[in-house]
Amino acid sequence: MTGNPIKVLFLSPEVVPFAKSGGLADVAGSLPLALKRMGMDVVLVMPYYRTIKDKHLKGRWVVKDLEVPFGNDRLQADVFMTSLAKGIPVYLIDREDLYDRPNLYGTPRGDYYDNLERFAFFAHASLCLMESIDFRPDIIHCHDWQSGLIPAILKGPYGRSKHFSRTATIFTIHNLGYQGLFPAQKLPITGLDYRNFFHADGLEFWGNMSLLKSGIVYADAVTTVSPTYSMEIQTSEYGMGMEGILQYRQEFLYGILNGIDYHQWDPAKDKHIPETYYPNRMKGKMKCKDALIQEMNMDASFKNKPLAGMISRLDNQKGLDLLVAILEKILALDMGLIILGAGDVKIQRAIRKTADHHPGRVGLYIGFNEPLAHRIMAGVDIFLIPSRYEPCGLTQMYALKYGTVPVARATGGLQDTIIPFDKSTGEGNGFLFGPHAAEAFLASIEQALECYKDPQTWKRIQSNGMQADFSWDRSAEMYTEVYQTVLKKRNILA
Ligand code: ADP
Repeated sequence: MTGNPIKVLFLSPEVVPFAKSGGLADVAGSLPLALKRMGMDVVLVMPYYRTIKDKHLKGRWVVKDLEVPFGNDRLQADVFMTSLAKGIPVYLIDREDLYDRPNLYGTPRGDYYDNLERFAFFAHASLCLMESIDFRPDIIHCHDWQSGLIPAILKGPYGRSKHFSRTATIFTIHNLGYQGLFPAQKLPITGLDYRNFFHADGLEFWGNMSLLKSGIVYADAVTTVSPTYSMEIQTSEYGMGMEGILQYRQEFLYGILNGIDYHQWDPAKDKHIPETYYPNRMKGKMKCKDALIQEMNMDASFKNKPLAGMISRLDNQKGLDLLVAILEKILALDMGLIILGAGDVKIQRAIRKTADHHPGRVGLYIGFNEPLAHRIMAGVDIFLIPSRYEPCGLTQMYALKYGTVPVARATGGLQDTIIPFDKSTGEGNGFLFGPHAAEAFLASIEQALECYKDPQTWKRIQSNGMQADFSWDRSAEMYTEVYQTVLKKRNILA
């Protein structure tokens, strides 16, 4: 890159290693590093959640009593600064009444009742902080509904601010299913007015306001996390009511596949697994399988039988209904299954019910456990992802790297990363099924098991997968192109 570095303010409600509930955090922890490598000047801002405070991070308080407009009031916040890596500061907005809670967004009983207040405050505080530390971003890159207000308030209350007069916004949709819906009468909290913003071409969505729609409508460009998902969300099947506005913004909508962080996810150097391995030395994978079978109290006979795994939020999106529907049939195929998941209590119960009937054949861990996720990825043969929809999906990319063969639904990023295995050519790295139907899922698993029986064929599929490269640098180049396009449009870049 020539000239002055592009200055990027990166706004995500979760960032690895500070706070994580899903793939968004992985992305927000990796993409800034890749942008920095490309020569950009990147800063991050996120809420100072209790779970981050509990980590006692190194850093210092940089701003006390930052004045933040909030509805008709002005509230104060303190700001703690730590870093993501050398040269990438992370500013943590501290307000105990909003962020000092056990979870990020809610409890199993539902979302926190004041999430609008929490994330509207986050949006305003982030902009006020930029003024206070005199960082003038060229790009504000917002992620998901929690930062979806920013593109709108930059056109509303901050529209005349000289500080942001050269700032363009990018809004990335990681999951259209989370729309940030709040009652219309709460709009004044956001600092926006009804006349200019609350209408069908604005952030109004069937009588409510949607912070996701705010990001889609008001950002200079919208991106989502895979090419296939960027097409799917413009259809009524996947658009969740947003398809019209997404079609309208088509010219500014880009699908950029997420990368994965090979420092964290590489079986050749993974610190969480009992033995490392790589394509020419796969013995380590057998050891990982043996250890996992013991750890999960599985029947020892599975050492020589196919073992499948799943690591997932327990949510309808992830197609667990299909898994529950075929669980008994899978077990009848003499395949073992290990599931790591947290979320919906009803789904937990349904899986546990079958698991309890088959001790030693289903290993179930309910909860969030990062080291165990690595051990499962390394220790199983087959990885199941029957998602109803999947914007990008990271676990299939981890699985490929770990020589664990994915069986997944042909949708979104799964379709963009998994190539169905073709026996006649020896090409392909996994198995895909089309319709969201239990029989189709089962047939795909049976296809995988057929190939598993022949060690040479299986080796070939594994090795095809392990060669795939989903590192971040390629995606970061594509984001850079989008940044440059919007800056050129605003006549900021020559
Ligand atoms: P999503 O963001 O929709 O949840 P992704 O596949 O993009 O799905 O990312 C999920 C991330 O969360 C992966 O890094 C996966 O390993 C991790 N993960 C999901 N559930 C658990 C869990 N129960 N324990 C540990 N890691 C989990």
